[in-house]
Amino acid sequence: MALLDKVSGELNLYIGGLFTLRRKESLRQSGITHVLSVLKLPVEQGLFEGFTHKAVEVDDVEDENLLEHFPECNRFIQSGIESGGGVLVHCAMGKSRSATVTCAFLMQRYGITPDQALAQIRETRPFCEPNDGFMKQLELYHRMAETDDIENSPVYQRWLYQREIEMSRACGQAPEAEKIRFEDEHESQGTSDFELKCKKCRRPLATSQYLTSHEPLRNSPGEKSSNTSAACAHYFLDALSWMRPELEQGKLDGRLECPKCQTNVGKYAWQGMQCSCGDWVLPAISLAKGRVDMAKTRPMGSVAGGMGIRMPPGSRPSGGQNL
Ligand SMILES: [Zn+2]
Ligand SMILES: [Zn+2]
Repeated sequence: MALLDKVSGELNLYIGGLFTLRRKESLRQSGITHVLSVLKLPVEQGLFEGFTHKAVEVDDVEDENLLEHFPECNRFIQSGIESGGGVLVHCAMGKSRSATVTCAFLMQRYGITPDQALAQIRETRPFCEPNDGFMKQLELYHRMAETDDIENSPVYQRWLYQREIEMSRACGQAPEAEKIRFEDEHESQGTSDFELKCKKCRRPLATSQYLTSHEPLRNSPGEKSSNTSAACAHYFLDALSWMRPELEQGKLDGRLECPKCQTNVGKYAWQGMQCSCGDWVLPAISLAKGRVDMAKTRPMGSVAGGMGIRMPPGSRPSGGQNL
């Protein structure tokens, strides 16, 4: 395996492992002026003498948050290239962490996908292989259009929240009250096709953009879908502000009552819940289909049939299936 490899293309950008740093001569020959370390220090500090150096201290494990460092890494690489020098991105082996950071840079610079960026890197360093968690983070970064303002991206915030939930689940605990994300208190994404109301008192409980899909293929973090199958006895949804008094009690699971008439309308389980269709949903916050009514908020010919909701005769939308 080569000590350091130039990323194919126009840039003076290199990937290497830790031992690359001991080859001062080859670093000089490659014109390297900037070194970006993506690993836990301390490494002998003397190794970085004479270079502009930046370190991002992360482990090569799937649940490490490397995504949050992409913008600063990109700025550092960019400044090295603009200075007319060369940039070495290294980790321990020059395989996962350094490849991930380099992919993120190429994606932002060239507007390419994670797969395309990785393919470009592998032209000269074929064994580069971001771990699965990092690959997912590159995909999220791409969905955020490689923004420099990661913190304020709803995609990123939902991903952080999902991590938080999984962490408390691993400890057998409910998430801390202040960590719960009440989705309707954030900028709304997408439009709503229908509204769910309490069957008894008609109090609106949710609009369709807060429903989450639990079909395995669509269940990637942050993905929103208003689809639910006829086999499901529940609508699963995000935490919404009317649930606050119940969810902030720190219980692992419980019932959800309509805030107006106090009828039991659903339940929640931070540890997850199995839907009647067989799928496991995590976290599970649900409204029982039998306790809510669906009202369309805009004309949607396909909603009723697709939702498996029986409509009164004559009110069935044209083109809808006979139930
Ligand atoms: Zn289901
Ligand atoms: Zn009610």
